Amino acid sequence: MLVAELEFKIIADTSFSAAEKGIRYYLEKLIFQGQILGREFPTYQAKDSFFSRVVLAQPDALEKKSHSSAGLQALEQLQHVGLSYPKLSILGDDLMSNHTDPCPAHTALILFCSFSATNSVLYCAEHFAPVPLYKVGRTNGEDFESLVRWQLQYQALDEIQMQESRVLLKSAEQSVQGFYSALNQQGYQQARALAKELNKPVYYYLYSGSSKDCASDAKKKCPGCGSDWKLTTSWHGLFDFCCQPCQLLSNIAFDCQS
Ligand SMILES: [Zn+2]
Ligand SMILES: [Zn+2]
Repeated sequence: MLVAELEFKIIADTSFSAAEKGIRYYLEKLIFQGQILGREFPTYQAKDSFFSRVVLAQPDALEKKSHSSAGLQALEQLQHVGLSYPKLSILGDDLMSNHTDPCPAHTALILFCSFSATNSVLYCAEHFAPVPLYKVGRTNGEDFESLVRWQLQYQALDEIQMQESRVLLKSAEQSVQGFYSALNQQGYQQARALAKELNKPVYYYLYSGSSKDCASDAKKKCPGCGSDWKLTTSWHGLFDFCCQPCQLLSNIAFDCQS
């Protein structure tokens, strides 16, 4: 991924608060389309311009064709607050983030979320590398706001359940690993809706951290339909279970693997 800077030139009378609001609104629409990644976007004014630091999945992330309808509208609104279209400068590779999937198209995707990654939650099923949301193949101009908001909630709960002294004891873990938790049901429904829209499988990954009975964990059934779903060899070195009809993936509980 790439570290980049956007320059918004001041082209008409504006105020600091109006300009800041316009930039914030535009950046938010870029987040919901997966065009910029992360949560922190340092923005400063120097001479006759505002500058924002962003992380991009690919150099073409900010091309006009990658925008959602809402993003295009936000781009036009910059002029109403006295700012130019942003000028992009790529500063270099982001050494802290993982690689973006190279495929131009995908036969199947995996919806996979974990606490630490700021990249897209949609992965190429073949390479298990993140696919930028704007490259997923949506054609209706809608963005991924509900998926990005779901990712934020998932990561907040996952972050808590990873800590040794948890402030929410069992409830965070149950949210993350229980298939019928509101968190997983929301995520699963989003995967189902995307699979229908894109007309391809979108597998949903169900995290498994701990188990009440490690001896029988490898024999657990698909929580969606109750079928056997154990794979003979793990997929991508992570998934030990796959149910094709439910498009669900999971692993032998991590606590039982050591
Ligand atoms: Zn791929
Ligand atoms: Zn199933």
